Amino acid sequence: MKKYRLPIILLAVFEAVAISLWLTKDNLFYLINFSYIGLSVSLGMFLLIKKFKYARHLVQLLVGLYMLIYLGLICQENMQIEGFWYYLFTGVFEAATIHYAVAKIFGPLIFGRGWCGYACWTAMVLDFLPYKKPKEERKKLGWIRYITFALALIFVAGLFLAHVGNIEHIMFYAFIIGNIAYYLIGIILAFAFKDNRAFCKYICPITVFLKPMSYFSLIRIKCDKEKCISCGKCKRVCPMDVDVTDNSRKRKNGTECILCMECVHECPKKAL
Ligand code: SF4
Ligand code: SF4
Ligand code: SF4
Repeated sequence: MKKYRLPIILLAVFEAVAISLWLTKDNLFYLINFSYIGLSVSLGMFLLIKKFKYARHLVQLLVGLYMLIYLGLICQENMQIEGFWYYLFTGVFEAATIHYAVAKIFGPLIFGRGWCGYACWTAMVLDFLPYKKPKEERKKLGWIRYITFALALIFVAGLFLAHVGNIEHIMFYAFIIGNIAYYLIGIILAFAFKDNRAFCKYICPITVFLKPMSYFSLIRIKCDKEKCISCGKCKRVCPMDVDVTDNSRKRKNGTECILCMECVHECPKKAL
């Protein structure tokens, strides 16, 4: 039963959020929404433990398509970072603000960057590209994320300061254009750097929230030093270049771990 602890914890966390929001906001949507996401993620973790090869892709599609197509395109909720700023500035604790609070700001204190491994609709596509294991050294380009983060903030603040009308409508088009741009840049970078996750490592503005919060994550991959034979297989297979054999929170690229479990499956000594 111990090995199923992670999916059970995740399901409990999502259900707690679903029920709390349903009762406090008096809106059944939150119960259905967070229950669906929690069940999908927990199912994925369960299938991963059962060594089902496509478990993570399955969850990415279940959650990513739901958010992109249903919430984004049909319900017209901008769940990207500019949508977060928009709802924050309007003082509405709905949609993108709740999504960010749960998945990207406070949730990472519990499940780290689980969002990036199991739910993000950008990575849902990027993870199908051919460079699952990076073929090149990591570049020192992480500073770009602060520029994209600032640009999103300036864009939305500018709309408010200029008293532009019908910003909600603009947000919908920003969501569509932003996603097309993310996919294009993400795919080009993946091929240019021979690394599916290059966009996540250098460009994605959301990591400005995700990285510091996931530093304190409750759920982490740890290494049993007694079992480890320092073969290095875990590091070679890691899509995010994490030094997972170092158990300290300051381990190299520690805040990049997306909990994909590739290292766990690869370890010949079951040390992770
Ligand atoms: S880093 Fe950004 S693009 Fe990559 S998976 Fe996380 S949220 Fe998605
Ligand atoms: S391979 Fe391991 S250390 Fe690397 S991102 Fe996946 S779970 Fe984290
Ligand atoms: S794959 Fe396992 S045994 Fe090899 S270095 Fe990593 S943790 Fe140690």
